[in-house]
Amino acid sequence: MAQLFFRYGAMNSGKTIEILKVAHNYEEQNKPVVIMTSALDNRDEIGYVSSRVGLRRQAEIIDEQTDLFEYVNNLSFTPACVLIDEAQFLKREHVLQAAKIVDTLHIPVMAFGLKNDFRNELFEGSKELLLQADKIEEMKTICWFCHRKALMNMRIVDGKPVYTGEQIQIGGNESYYPVCRRHYNNPPSQF
Ligand SMILES: [Zn+2]
Repeated sequence: MAQLFFRYGAMNSGKTIEILKVAHNYEEQNKPVVIMTSALDNRDEIGYVSSRVGLRRQAEIIDEQTDLFEYVNNLSFTPACVLIDEAQFLKREHVLQAAKIVDTLHIPVMAFGLKNDFRNELFEGSKELLLQADKIEEMKTICWFCHRKALMNMRIVDGKPVYTGEQIQIGGNESYYPVCRRHYNNPPSQF
């Protein structure tokens, strides 16, 4: 049975490398996959999934107008799996379309993304995936400052943590760190 998967993790938990690995495993058996990513992912060139270890490949762009179901349904081939990076940026509608791919085309969809933003609130795509996914898995990584599990994402601007503001800020010069709850609430004074 095809299923809708949501694999979430903090920053740097290896989500993209996992997508590239899953894609490789399918393709090694001559099973084609579709890789999609949000147009809002501007860490690298738009339309690529890039991992920090240096691997990258092209991906279909999801923007507000994209209908995931129509896109997959109109392909000239039937993919063995649909992989979605940066799934936190999906709109609720996109997640419902992904569920329709699973339920009517019987193609598994694996969505990867952050669960909570730097304000420690759910992203729209993540919230809907938590509600809709058949399987939910946490991808673990450790806190930037200690050895506890990272639960949250800290936004650093000019060397200081920021807890308020727009959820999605395009083209900023901020950086994000995976942090445990303790360090989220009590950040070190130096970065
Ligand atoms: Zn910590």
